[in-house]
Amino acid sequence: MFGKKPACSNCGNEINAGDLIYVKMQYPRRKGMTEIIAFLKKEGIFICENCFNNREDHH
Ligand SMILES: [Zn+2]
Repeated sequence: MFGKKPACSNCGNEINAGDLIYVKMQYPRRKGMTEIIAFLKKEGIFICENCFNNREDHH
């Protein structure tokens, strides 16, 4: 489905099937799942659960 193997953008760990992940992305201007999938392929940033839970808030 994806051209490259998805990996956590923080620690670089490969995302495995069944892993719980978080995706950081800009919501597309146009509505629809097709648009979202295209965005994910192009500029979706994956964050593994471990990094998401451990990340520090820089607000
Ligand atoms: Zn990670």
